[in-house]
Amino acid sequence: MSFVNHNYKKNLGNVFYKINQKVDLYKKNNPCRQVISLGIGDVTRPFSENLANIMSNAILEQKYTSTFKGYPPEQGYMFLREKIKERYSGFGVNIKTDEIFIGNGISCDISNILDIFQDYTPLIIEPTYPEYILSNLQNGKSPLVIYATKENNFYMLLNSLPQKQYLIYLCSPNNPTGYTYTKKQLKEWIDFANKTNSIILLDLAYESFIDGNFPHTTYKIANAKKCVIEFCSFSKMAGFTNLRCSYTIIPKSIKRENIKLNASFLKRQLTRFNGVPYFVQVGAEYILSKQGQIEQQKNIDYYKNNVKIICYYLSKLNLDFVSSSCTPYVWLKCPNGKSSWQFFDELLNNCSVVVAPGIGFGKSGEGYVRLSGFNSMENTVNACEKICEYLEKEKCTT
Ligand code: PLP
Repeated sequence: MSFVNHNYKKNLGNVFYKINQKVDLYKKNNPCRQVISLGIGDVTRPFSENLANIMSNAILEQKYTSTFKGYPPEQGYMFLREKIKERYSGFGVNIKTDEIFIGNGISCDISNILDIFQDYTPLIIEPTYPEYILSNLQNGKSPLVIYATKENNFYMLLNSLPQKQYLIYLCSPNNPTGYTYTKKQLKEWIDFANKTNSIILLDLAYESFIDGNFPHTTYKIANAKKCVIEFCSFSKMAGFTNLRCSYTIIPKSIKRENIKLNASFLKRQLTRFNGVPYFVQVGAEYILSKQGQIEQQKNIDYYKNNVKIICYYLSKLNLDFVSSSCTPYVWLKCPNGKSSWQFFDELLNNCSVVVAPGIGFGKSGEGYVRLSGFNSMENTVNACEKICEYLEKEKCTT
């Protein structure tokens, strides 16, 4: 018996927190150097004039008794849920508005959902977004970790897994590798989940980056509505990392032990969540409008162009890396067998460029770093040139 949660005693540090600490120290010691971040995958493009105006007007509504608003509805304003329903219709899928929960970011939603499960084994495919592992370890759960790396073409074959009930984390397009599941692969996971009575938590943080014939949702696939909970957010889609807005889809047809997970999560939210601000949901609604989509696509294309720039420079150096047309990231093998943090420190100290150490995405990320396209084009080119110059010089001296 213990009063406090001793799991927090373990070294469960967040990699991005550690990066920030290192960068702050570097800036303090080198005040004249300009640091360029291709590290923490945070957005940088400003809002469109329309989006900013629409949200400003929504805030001004609080000035008048007739339009003042108190607590938002816990499951989200109907105008936003209707728009999300419409988005899914565009994918050829029918979901109901009461299957949609508006939240304040996938990082919160995908951790909060754990409250409605009790005895379960998380199944996590590395390398991936670190919060899946950390939130489970903090809850005292030991995940079964499997690997989708270059060695198995970033796809894990399911027939080698012990057939038991899991809480399965899928991330497509994957952070950090950019690997995006095909319909066939998602179907394999759905069949596996239904056979083992498991639940899939599908993280679609980068859904709006998908290019080509990859699914934007699983719900067109047979029996997905019996086992898949989908998470998406406006963070990367529309630059809402500061404002915070997301949506979780829990089909009412998902039941385990005769309990509807939609009903459990609703109860959870009613007790522990008081909703997302009105003006943020108004902005999110605009993002899903025709004009909003055109505007946000411009920013996504801008970031993707940066990814192309990074790939161009890394190719010139003959470095070993992967990326895809569905991701804002490049996953780079550290040259000369260096460890993730070693290479991170080298790039920071010699080029003033910040990357994300691969080890932060799980053990299989050791020996890799992730570079992000979320900066200005000028900074991206500048950072790449500095990296190239440094690595060329290194080659000559090693
Ligand atoms: N999921 C993945 C895969 C991410 O990469 C991120 C952020 O980088 C998140 C979730 C967090 O998203 P949000 O800002 O919606 O909490």
